Amino acid sequence: MQTEEILERLECVSGDYPQYMARCPAHNDNRPSLSLRDLKDKTLINCFAGCEAKDIMNAIGLELKDLYKN
Ligand SMILES: [Zn+2]
Repeated sequence: MQTEEILERLECVSGDYPQYMARCPAHNDNRPSLSLRDLKDKTLINCFAGCEAKDIMNAIGLELKDLYKN
């Protein structure tokens, strides 16, 4: 899955390629604390509140493997 397709499922997306911020779907996020980085082969995600990548992806109906682009 492409990074753009993940971004489409998130709220309050800001930033420009390759670095974005969005509201974390896995916790009650008042302001965007989820960072996303568009890498060559995958999307790197990190919640500053410490949410697991798996929980973040599940919250938007995706799986961990969807972080990979092929
Ligand atoms: Zn979070």
